[in-house]
Amino acid sequence: MLSDIKSQTLHELQTQFRTWSQPDYRVSQLLEWLYVHRVTDWDAMMNLPKPLRHLLAQTYSLLTLELIRKQGARDSTQKFLWQLSDGALIESVLIPANPALYGEPSDRHTLCVSTQVGCAYGCKFCASGLAGWKRDLHPGEIVEQVLAVERWHKGNPKPGTRNPEDIAALDPRSAFRIPRLIDNLVIMGMGEPLANYDNLLKALTILNAPWGRGIGARKITISTSGLAPQIRKLADEPLQFRLAISLHGATDETRNKIMPVNRKYPLRELTAACEYYQQQNRRMITFEYILIAGVNDGLDQIKPLAQLAHRFKAKVNLIPYNKVENLPWTRPANGAQEAFLAALEKQKVHATLRREKGHDIDAACGQLRLRTERELK
Ligand code: SF4
Repeated sequence: MLSDIKSQTLHELQTQFRTWSQPDYRVSQLLEWLYVHRVTDWDAMMNLPKPLRHLLAQTYSLLTLELIRKQGARDSTQKFLWQLSDGALIESVLIPANPALYGEPSDRHTLCVSTQVGCAYGCKFCASGLAGWKRDLHPGEIVEQVLAVERWHKGNPKPGTRNPEDIAALDPRSAFRIPRLIDNLVIMGMGEPLANYDNLLKALTILNAPWGRGIGARKITISTSGLAPQIRKLADEPLQFRLAISLHGATDETRNKIMPVNRKYPLRELTAACEYYQQQNRRMITFEYILIAGVNDGLDQIKPLAQLAHRFKAKVNLIPYNKVENLPWTRPANGAQEAFLAALEKQKVHATLRREKGHDIDAACGQLRLRTERELK
């Protein structure tokens, strides 16, 4: 199987082009076709000589994602279900952070991307882990989620408005002045990102590089359910990404009930790794906390959660649980959610309660994929 062109770094491409006696500026031309124009066809790369295009097509694949389903309104959270070249399905979610208040298009978009097909970590509340792990995504498949969503946007402008890309800020750091529709990434989709460490880091290097997609490292948040050794490894990387811990419980007892990973890396190990991460790069950590009725929404969690938040100067994102078909869990009533938030605030914790915009669109990660797979069967 050919390696995907969007899994290649600048250095790898330059090395390959030199073996073909091609000058470095040809690599720059290629990268502009890939990451500025987002072409899906070798023949569209018109300033590359035909023999070189042929050589590229013989050496690399130019994979794209096929859109199988899309849910959500144009101005709100939109979920994309993609089919990969082997038929596997993955999801990406586009979240406009500043929805049009005065009729103008949103000015900031965040994309939540997947890193694996399925997940091996088996968190009890999660749709992505229900059918187990199938495979890791290649770097190009992670990169392509960003490009495919931007391609979709460009091809589907909202009637009566300019295309968001036309008004998007231009990245001044980029040699190519990349029009940026998506300027924030959260690595929180299907899969445990740090379990696909090398492919993820390569993809993020490409998405961050000025010669690639040009998204700032500080605008990229990697989420993990608690893989302590990989958190330490991440802390030592030259690129300083943000870190979010999917905590979902402030004691080992609560985490053990819903997150098997906690038995391998209990809170003592997880927090030691977080401490190391903060020592190395002085970055703020975020705690994600899905509120599940009767599981982790008791006020007994407040004190230990506040202690953790203070220890790491962490912000706590409370997320009411999104119901997953065939799982028994539910979200707490609104009053209980508010009470949990108020109790945290009383402890002087910086916390937010996310009112899920995507509650009506199979918002739980992996849910749309599961439902589609069942229908296809
Ligand atoms: S919550 Fe994340 S780590 Fe846990 S099973 Fe789901 S995708 Fe995997």
